[in-house]
Amino acid sequence: MQRANSKFGLMTTAIHAGEAPDPTTGASAPALHMSSTFVTDQVAGFSAHDLEDDGNFLYARWGNPTVQMLEQKLASLEGVEDCICLASGMAAATAIFLTFLSAGDHTVISDVSYAGVAELARDTLPRFGIDVSLVDMSDLAAVAAALRPNTKLVHTESPVNPIGRLTDLAAVSKLAHEAGALVSCDATFASPLGQRSAFLGIDLIMHSVTKYVGGHGDAVGGAVAGRRELISQIRGESAIHHGGVMSPFNAWLVARGLSLLPLRMTAHEAGAQAIAEWLEAQPLVNRVIYPGLSSHPQHELAKRQVTNNSGMISFQVGNAATGRKIAQQMIDRLEIIHYAVSLGHHRSLIFWMETQGLMDTSFRLSGAQLESYRSYGGDGVFRMSVGLENPEDLIRDLATALS
Ligand SMILES: *Cc1c(COP(=O)(O)O)cnc(C)c1O
Repeated sequence: MQRANSKFGLMTTAIHAGEAPDPTTGASAPALHMSSTFVTDQVAGFSAHDLEDDGNFLYARWGNPTVQMLEQKLASLEGVEDCICLASGMAAATAIFLTFLSAGDHTVISDVSYAGVAELARDTLPRFGIDVSLVDMSDLAAVAAALRPNTKLVHTESPVNPIGRLTDLAAVSKLAHEAGALVSCDATFASPLGQRSAFLGIDLIMHSVTKYVGGHGDAVGGAVAGRRELISQIRGESAIHHGGVMSPFNAWLVARGLSLLPLRMTAHEAGAQAIAEWLEAQPLVNRVIYPGLSSHPQHELAKRQVTNNSGMISFQVGNAATGRKIAQQMIDRLEIIHYAVSLGHHRSLIFWMETQGLMDTSFRLSGAQLESYRSYGGDGVFRMSVGLENPEDLIRDLATALS
């Protein structure tokens, strides 16, 4: 598997992109540069407007060598020109919205998304005079109908948190571009290995690197990858002005995790496939959503678009009361799997996400949009992030909680 613009495969890219042996010490592993400022031999301006793409380092809010190493790795893996890393996934989402939207603009955002993004779209953006339409992105006619002359950005998420619904990224990109809008995709669940976002037309590829990219549950961060001209705009606005930059230490940890991402994703996928198939055979489980199962409602789209099914499984166990009961059994009985939020780590994580609660706090859907949600999520789902433990151990652990 290779990205179009690289002569190297993805495993080579993940290890070597952005790195080189240290020219003075010969160190083979990348250095951790904590420096906040950089000595310069140039008399230059001190403004975001003076930022040059290939300029020297000046101050860590503009750029830092260790953070830049991670940015180059991610840009290379996504097959795009540039990337910016920020303090968290939410900082990355905010960067996209506040860089490319202004008062009077309109944006179309997936009606189901990471809860923080959902609340930002519903509560924060309108405060700044930005008009938001919330659309079921698996319904292409609804996407087309929502586009307006002043639509500047279409923000998708695929697969969508927490129900695993997919978006046809090529089709949505085409519609958005015809309307003159940029397209962003929160690809956190997919990881850079799970879909060829740039090839499918996505202009701004967003990740919470807290999840698969870092992969070890020990560093919070976010990233946006895309064309240089777009990433430079985000750097000027969100890094230099809004200030949510990534710590070099986090960048170093995340880059270390990223080096083995292709190997990890292969193992996440294999483990999740085994567990999804096992779950489907359990009498207590009445629905399993995983792109690698032929029972996924969009299995045909998954076969066309998804290049790694990742380790994210959603499953249902009957009504909300049963879900809460099993959740408590998980808390009491699980030996290996952690009952905790977050995802993409080497440790397996599971969390009960009840539909009514999410509707009240984050999604606030009704009518056909609520029906579409419920056709994937029922009364609630267990969102399981299958880690890198032996799948048979995870199955034994799950079995104790599902009895
Ligand atoms: C976790 C997550 C985010 C937010 O990322 P943080 O690093 O926690 O700020 C955004 N989108 C998705 C899909 C996520 O899973």
